[in-house]
Amino acid sequence: MTHPKILLIYTGGTIGMIKDAETGALRAFDFDNLLLRIPELKLLECDIETISFKEPIDSSNMNPKFWVEIAEVIENNYTKFDGFVILHGSDTMSYTASALSFMLENLAKPVILTGSQLPIGDLRTDAKENLITSIQVAALQHKNKPVIKEVGLYFEYKLYRGNRTTKINAEHFEAFASLNYPELAESGVHLKVNKEYLLKKPKVNKDFIVHKDLESNIALIKLFPGISQTILQSMFNAPGLKGVIIETYGAGNCTTETWFLELLIKAARQKIPMINITQCSGGSVSMGQYETSQKLKKIGIISGKDLTTEAALSKLMYLLPKGLSPKKLKNAFEKNLRGEMTS
Ligand code: ASP
Repeated sequence: MTHPKILLIYTGGTIGMIKDAETGALRAFDFDNLLLRIPELKLLECDIETISFKEPIDSSNMNPKFWVEIAEVIENNYTKFDGFVILHGSDTMSYTASALSFMLENLAKPVILTGSQLPIGDLRTDAKENLITSIQVAALQHKNKPVIKEVGLYFEYKLYRGNRTTKINAEHFEAFASLNYPELAESGVHLKVNKEYLLKKPKVNKDFIVHKDLESNIALIKLFPGISQTILQSMFNAPGLKGVIIETYGAGNCTTETWFLELLIKAARQKIPMINITQCSGGSVSMGQYETSQKLKKIGIISGKDLTTEAALSKLMYLLPKGLSPKKLKNAFEKNLRGEMTS
């Protein structure tokens, strides 16, 4: 029996960091050292190959160019491997997981992101479990076919759908949450996969497509009581603005002050897509439920439903370059494309 082939892609993050002797700050170090520190990897029943960013980064420096780099590594190795594990800093891991989910269309293999809160060399590290189980998850097969066929994020005994996650804790090992979607798998004495929650492969065999064009001229606005008209005006008037995401209150509610609504009406006339997502960690936008969101519906604001901020941003980055009419863009955005929203 041949073992599943897994490609480990190292981008950086705490998992492979060491303390700088002079400054005491954590910085990324050479990937080969990482593997030397986990001899257990040899015990796994899979063939592991590794590839690393030339210069590993702290994920706070992540950007769409690096997303394309990761997507191209997967594209170039797609037929050669059964699964992919991406080692990534936890700070922006949910953004990368969300972006990759849109960039990798008709994905039929697992792409699992993981990292850790403590470096692999630390005595109390969470890195080993996260890495080893992520590889096991990526290697899961049923009748010689991968069990997971989507972008997942594994952290602290749980596998989540990547585009449903958010980093919620800077200190706890349980650093991520997926409040609007259940875990895909849980690691205890056994690795328990919740099959009913996995993304199904499309019935017809569709070609794997990698989308590399992403638009990042987007404003992300979080409303707060007393938000300044002048500052919002300058954001809406920013040259090159292609889209706006508004984090509203509760079920998608906002101030109904005239200046605010007029700003939105003007942007709608300029055909700038505007997305309404909630600043609550869980739950969904429901425009029209309250008077304070009815106006938004009339203006043509797009509902982000129960998307996370990370998923809303990357979905808009992915859809904007497609050249869709405002109506088609609204339809596409409000549709569930990769399991990112509850339809
Ligand atoms: N600052 C680190 C990063 O995101 C934190 C981590 O890896 O958990 O790269």
